[in-house]
Amino acid sequence: MQSDKTNFEQRRKLLALLGTGAVALPVLGLTGCGGDDSSPTAASLQDSASDAAAAMEDTAESAMEEAATAADTAGEAMTETMEAAEDVVEETAEGAQTIASDASSAMAKVDENGAQAQGLGYRHDATTIDTSAQPRYAAGQQCSNCALWQGGDAEWGGCPLFAGQQVKATGWCTAYNKAG
Ligand code: SF4
Repeated sequence: MQSDKTNFEQRRKLLALLGTGAVALPVLGLTGCGGDDSSPTAASLQDSASDAAAAMEDTAESAMEEAATAADTAGEAMTETMEAAEDVVEETAEGAQTIASDASSAMAKVDENGAQAQGLGYRHDATTIDTSAQPRYAAGQQCSNCALWQGGDAEWGGCPLFAGQQVKATGWCTAYNKAG
């Protein structure tokens, strides 16, 4: 039969081995360091400790697996969200380009007989300008080489004097100003 002192030493070593004395105490049913005759034997204590350690290991492993799964799920969700956002940006940009293109091609052409065109002596074909009526006109002048022309190489383009409308590259008006 073991003495109380021997029992105490065995439990102390066991708790030190576990390194989790505070957690293991309730598991093992220990209430203090002092021993008594009803205390379990060292062998049964060791078995209980092994079981508790294995149970804690299993719990830790499953918690880590769950955490890893949750991280994977979050990562996938983030990737899907980013891809969806990129799609929206691309579609929006394409839509904006289409609208801009449609708006440009849908811009009305200046009516030569309209009040504004008449007031500026505008004609779609500069070569038909009556030089006696428009002494400022000189051969070679036309919208496409005017400083106010906004049409680039297009046949029709914008001019700030006819906002929201298009003048012809070959056109001319009295506000002509040679492009620098
Ligand atoms: S200001 Fe220049 S671009 Fe505009 S209508 Fe007159 S000639 Fe053409």
